[in-house]
Amino acid sequence: MLQATSPWSMTGSGASSRRHNPVRYALRLTEAQHDLLRTHLFPGDGNEAVALLLCGRRNGSGRHAFCVQKILPVPHSACSVRTPDRITWPTTFVDDLLSEAFASAQAIVKIHSHPGYYRKFSSADDQSDRALYDSVSSLLGDALPHASVVMLPDGQMFGRVVAAGEIVQPLSSITVTGSDLKLYGAGADASTSTDAFALRHAQAFGKGTTALLRSLSIAVVGCSGTGSIVIEQLARLGVGRLVLIDPDCVEEKNLNRILNSGKEDAYLKRYKVHVLASAIARMGLGQEVLPLPLNLATREAVLAVAECDVVFGCMDGVEGRHLLNRIATFYSIPYFDAGVRLDADGKGGISSIAGAVHYLQPGRSSLLSREVYTMKQVEAEELKRTNPDLYAELRRAGYLRGVDEDRPAVISVNMLYASLAVNEFLARVHPYRNQPNSDYAYLGASLSEVGFYPESEAADCLALKRHLGRGDVEPLLERPSLS
Ligand SMILES: [Zn+2]
Repeated sequence: MLQATSPWSMTGSGASSRRHNPVRYALRLTEAQHDLLRTHLFPGDGNEAVALLLCGRRNGSGRHAFCVQKILPVPHSACSVRTPDRITWPTTFVDDLLSEAFASAQAIVKIHSHPGYYRKFSSADDQSDRALYDSVSSLLGDALPHASVVMLPDGQMFGRVVAAGEIVQPLSSITVTGSDLKLYGAGADASTSTDAFALRHAQAFGKGTTALLRSLSIAVVGCSGTGSIVIEQLARLGVGRLVLIDPDCVEEKNLNRILNSGKEDAYLKRYKVHVLASAIARMGLGQEVLPLPLNLATREAVLAVAECDVVFGCMDGVEGRHLLNRIATFYSIPYFDAGVRLDADGKGGISSIAGAVHYLQPGRSSLLSREVYTMKQVEAEELKRTNPDLYAELRRAGYLRGVDEDRPAVISVNMLYASLAVNEFLARVHPYRNQPNSDYAYLGASLSEVGFYPESEAADCLALKRHLGRGDVEPLLERPSLS
């Protein structure tokens, strides 16, 4: 029996080459932030320009993310020199960000333009980065990494990590999350050969997309009826690293819909995440898998999800989805949510089969602002998990509406919505629809009505937007229960 070993299981031929990876550094920003920067950095006069970014961090041991929270454009008129290949600007502008950076251990990222498409850092850049970050580190009194980034006229970016005045290494990836998902740098270092199993995807989506999928780390929260099918697809598409989160063991009642599960798993009470990690190991496609048999509302699970480039939510309840939306906002991560609803009529028949895929961009609308649920429902579920006796009492007394209990679930229905969710993700990294992706922030689908019901992005969620890019804070996500 192949059993994935916790915490890390690594499979196939890629395992040995990836064992001693250096820390991977990522920069994450939204399309709106990218647009604002591009407008400032390319004012139309052909000269260089500069801006400073205040970034929250996910300061993990193997993965470090800089999440853009605030942009400070250095005014063009304040720069003493601006030519097509040089810029001199007063570093007093850094002072404005230092106290905020100091208060919450945030990073300062310098970004400047190369109007002539020079695709490297110049020796002048080396000098200026060393001087700037030497003084930033001594003023902040720590040796935490910061970054320096260059934008080219077409919006492409590249960057490097600088710590205590030393240039450390290039940024592994820069993610821009908008209606489309743009990843710069990601996959660029992937080998030129395409594994045989991925060849068919390579033909359909191009070598770039296949290499990009290989470079990505994706979390799937909820590994049951819908989640196991999402995981199967992501693994076989060749996603490089999968983080699986689900606190439950396989039970006999799940065997009608969890892929790769069997009676023995139910008998031995194996965790769903371990069963699925074993299945991925058996595929032997050289992926990393981190199976975490935990509720998402735990510190370890939140931090593991926050280190991923993309998240999928495949949960029945609303508490976990609400939390995942919050994680995705604090850490600036694109979030795909799959929900299925199968209603029985109580007489052995089905009254409706409907479901939806929500694509949630950090800083834009949320599941809450889209009115997928209310805070009352979230609180009821949280109470049921943390204090079941009080929950039962309040429910008996009529103070609470009951949380939805086990609904009927059918694998063929789950497969449809799991597939829509993964295709939604693929459409964002490699647009293939006739209409722009912005038309499909929400994709409802009904089997009862037999139809698709897309909707475009709604108004921003003001409750979540203020947390965009804040990264690690204490208590985590401003939730005392996660401290
Ligand atoms: Zn430069």
